[in-house]
Amino acid sequence: METILFLTHTETDGSLGKPALEALGAANRLTTAVSGQLVVALFGETVQPAADQIATCGATRFLAVSGAEFGTSRYATDAAAAEALCRAAQASIIIAPATSRANRSLPSVAFRLDGSVDTHVTGILTEGGKISTTRWYYRQRMEAVQQRAKRPWLILLDPGTQTPWSGVAATVQVELVPVALSDKLKRTTVTGTREPSADAQTIRPDAALLFVAGAGWTKKQADGQTHVPEAERLILNFLHATRASLGSTKSLVDWGGEGQAVLSFLTHFNQVGQTGSTPRHPKGLAACCHGEEPHTVGWRFVTERRAVNLDPNCGWARGKADVLYVADAFAVISKVNELLA
Ligand SMILES: Cc1cc2nc3c(=O)[nH]c(=O)nc-3n(C[C@H](O)[C@H](O)[C@H](O)COP(=O)(O)OP(=O)(O)OC[C@H]3O[C@@H](n4cnc5c(N)ncnc54)[C@H](O)[C@@H]3O)c2cc1C
Repeated sequence: METILFLTHTETDGSLGKPALEALGAANRLTTAVSGQLVVALFGETVQPAADQIATCGATRFLAVSGAEFGTSRYATDAAAAEALCRAAQASIIIAPATSRANRSLPSVAFRLDGSVDTHVTGILTEGGKISTTRWYYRQRMEAVQQRAKRPWLILLDPGTQTPWSGVAATVQVELVPVALSDKLKRTTVTGTREPSADAQTIRPDAALLFVAGAGWTKKQADGQTHVPEAERLILNFLHATRASLGSTKSLVDWGGEGQAVLSFLTHFNQVGQTGSTPRHPKGLAACCHGEEPHTVGWRFVTERRAVNLDPNCGWARGKADVLYVADAFAVISKVNELLA
C-alpha cells in the first residue's frame, strides 16, 4: 500500500495557507484513488493550529517538527525538519505546496533520501493504475505527463492549480519528531521581512481580475500629446477600486529600463508573456495593448479575456480575446472608474 505524505511548513500564526490546503486536497484525492494511507507532516514555530485545522482530512498520523528555530524560512533548518519528517513517515509519495520556502529546501531533501523530486507540478493523475504528474515546459507551451519509478517521489504542486481541501476542524494528537540542530545549521538569521505597502503591491495572484497595461498608455494620443500622468492616475484608481492584479507588456517595462517615460509602478515582474509570466486569473482585461502572440501566449490560463484597443485589427481581434471593445482606453477606464466610485 502506498503511503502518501502531505508535507508543509505552517504560516507564522501556525495555520495553513491556501497553497498548503491545495496540496492537501491533491494528496487526499491521490490517497483515495490508490487506496493508500495518508500521513500529515508539519513544521514551523507552532503546528497545533494547523493540525487541528485539517484534523478530519483522513490522515492516519500527524507528525510534526516545531519550535522557534523552524519559524522562519531558512534553508538548513527547513531541510533538516523535512528530512526528519520524511524518514519518520517512510512514505513513497510526498506531496508539498510549491511555495518559495518548499521550492528552496525540498529538492535537497529528495537527494538526501535518495529519492526524486518534481517542482512546479500542476496535476496528479492515476490512470491505468500508475501515478503520473503533469508539468508545463518551454514557457508554458508544452504540457508533459511524467511517471517516475524512483521512490520516495517528492511532488511540489504549484499554487492555484488544485481544489483546496476543506473540512471541519477538531483536536488531534500530534507526534513530535525530534531534530537536533547544530549551530552550523542556524548560522543564517532572518532579521525581518520587508514588503511594499498594500497599494504599491500590484501583483496579486489571488485577484479575480488581471488588468494588463500596454504601451499605448504612454504613446501620443489624438491630440498629438502623451498623457502619462493621467494614464498612471487612471490605472492606479482602477486597481484601487477593483483590487485587480496588474500585468504589463514587454514594450512598456523595457522602456522603463531604458529611462523613457513609462508608468512608474511597473517592473519586469509585471510582464506577462513568452518571456514574462503566465498568470492564472479567471478574467483578464487588456487596455492599450496590441495583443501580439509573444504577449498573449502568457494569457493561456486566463479563462475570460477582454481588451480595449483603438485598432479594430489589433491582435486581440484575431481570436485572442472573447470581447474586444474598439474604443479609447482613456475614456473607457475613466468612465469605469467613475462607475466604480
Ligand atoms: C522573443 C520575444 C519575446 C517576447 N516576449 C514578450 C513577453 O513576454 N511579453 C510581451 O508583452 N511582449 C513580448 N514580446 C514583444 C511583443 O512581440 C510585442 O512587441 C509587445 O507585446 C507589444 O507591446 P504593446 O502591445 O504594449 O505595444 P504596441 O505594439 O506598441 O501596442 C500599443 C497598442 O496600444 C493601442 N492604443 C494606443 N492608444 C490607445 C488608446 N487611447 N486606447 C486604446 N488603445 C490604444 C494601439 O492601437 C496599439 O495596439 C516579445 C517579443 C519577442 C521577439
